[in-house]
Amino acid sequence: MTKHIFVTGGVVSSLGKGLTSASIGMLLENRGLSVRLQKLDPYINVDPGTMSPYQHGEVYVLDDGSETDLDLGHYERFTNSPLTRDSNYTTGQIYLAVINKERRGEFLGQTVQVIPHITNEIKHVLSKLAADDVDVVITEIGGTVGDIESQPFLEAIRQYSLDAGKENCVYIHLTLIPYLKAAGELKTKPTQHSVGQLRQIGIQPDLLICRTERSMSHDERAKIALFCNVPIEAVIEEKDKDFSIYEVPMSLVENQLDELIVRKLGLQAGPLDLTDWKNLLDRLHHPRHQIDIAVVGKYAEHRDAYKSIYEALDHAGIEHRAEIRVKRVHSEAIEEEGAEQILADMDGVLVPGGFGERGIEGKIEAIRFARERGIPFLGICLGMQCAVVEFARNVGQLADANSAEFSKDTPHPVICLLDEQRTITDMGGTMRLGAQPTTLVAGSKARTCYGRDDISERHRHRYEFNNEYRQAFNEGGMQIVGTSPDGSLVEIIEIPDHPWFVAVQFHPEFKSQPTRPHPLFAGFVGAAVARHQECGPRTEKAESV
Ligand code: GLN
Repeated sequence: MTKHIFVTGGVVSSLGKGLTSASIGMLLENRGLSVRLQKLDPYINVDPGTMSPYQHGEVYVLDDGSETDLDLGHYERFTNSPLTRDSNYTTGQIYLAVINKERRGEFLGQTVQVIPHITNEIKHVLSKLAADDVDVVITEIGGTVGDIESQPFLEAIRQYSLDAGKENCVYIHLTLIPYLKAAGELKTKPTQHSVGQLRQIGIQPDLLICRTERSMSHDERAKIALFCNVPIEAVIEEKDKDFSIYEVPMSLVENQLDELIVRKLGLQAGPLDLTDWKNLLDRLHHPRHQIDIAVVGKYAEHRDAYKSIYEALDHAGIEHRAEIRVKRVHSEAIEEEGAEQILADMDGVLVPGGFGERGIEGKIEAIRFARERGIPFLGICLGMQCAVVEFARNVGQLADANSAEFSKDTPHPVICLLDEQRTITDMGGTMRLGAQPTTLVAGSKARTCYGRDDISERHRHRYEFNNEYRQAFNEGGMQIVGTSPDGSLVEIIEIPDHPWFVAVQFHPEFKSQPTRPHPLFAGFVGAAVARHQECGPRTEKAESV
């Protein structure tokens, strides 16, 4: 029988529920258990696909094409749990399902209400991932306890243990123990209040994970235990990690979290073997190189907007024993200050995906600079489209070349709308989404990185390389080295006559793991390390460009 773990958060948002849930999943998998992860988000959007990265951070795309919350990225990086459309539900989706049923007359004249109809629908999605071959489903409830929006979700997880059996459910509450400088102590009151609110709606947490910047004393833990009605060993400290998110599982293990869960749920689990994970941390803590990579995007100031890209760079850094110092560059700053000023010292330049015209010229200028100076370049989705525009303008002498996304009447639309997109008017879930196959050209850098001919990568776009320009690009020195298997869609371009200039229409960052870096990120970072070694220390290099 599948057991359930519910993870809620209290006191403040951004405590790292996603990371903690992913870490729990990783530890349980490591003990030989089969785990599934799921996130329920209390907002009305049907999915985050229509939300600005400023509001919600990156949209994380799954193989099946669902556009999901970025916490699912943590789940995939930490575990092997397969994720699908059932791994992320929002209030909007739940209501939509219930309202559609009501319109079909399925409620047979009943008054449709939050309890029981909405909560029943939530319980239905909670049970969807349970299966014979699944030992544990971990469900993270987005938002913070006390929010009006989260209430139906909390009510549903409370009810769930009545159906599934209390012994088959564990409630974990992630909370904050702030340190007050003036008082010189850790404060437990916000946690007492947050657990108080949970208990008011009938949920007694089994385990408390306490985020704190300082270690808690025995007395502080005992106080939390007493006021929150849990045994002292159920008060788990998760001390802030300055260094890396990949340390989180280790701190949970120090506090025996995996063992407490296994015991509470009566799971048949094997011993923990964290050798691989410890090796990874060792490589991370003892880099041999330090390299600088510029990520030139529109949302530079927003740390979550390119989350998976920063993570994938770190993974490749772990592989090459390189500490990656990411310079988050606002592409408009390049328009104002010039590429030389901002990028001259960089060992690599990455232009990520995006939408809309703002900052486009800065991205194109950054790409010109990387191409002309031989700086390793990786373009992703919009980054590839900008590389194509840059090449057409500056090498192909097509001065007005552009993407049809930004100029409807350019004489040279080198990037144009996908045929299947021409009649689409709805914005939600209508892009070319999810896993699509690509065939690679022998002898290309991409083929060397992947080590095979056929790959599958995740997409999220409406525009594509315009096939009318294929021959001109090939002749001009930009090669098409990856296409859809029927050859109709361009997926990867390269400039063979450059140390490392590769750009892809898909999103490789969604398939990188710390223990298995993505081949293209590994190739890019490897080229950046090589450039760094060739160019010598930074000051000399600054002179050499
Ligand atoms: N805006 C571009 C398109 O829709 C690129 C999308 C992206 O970078 N994800 O094709």
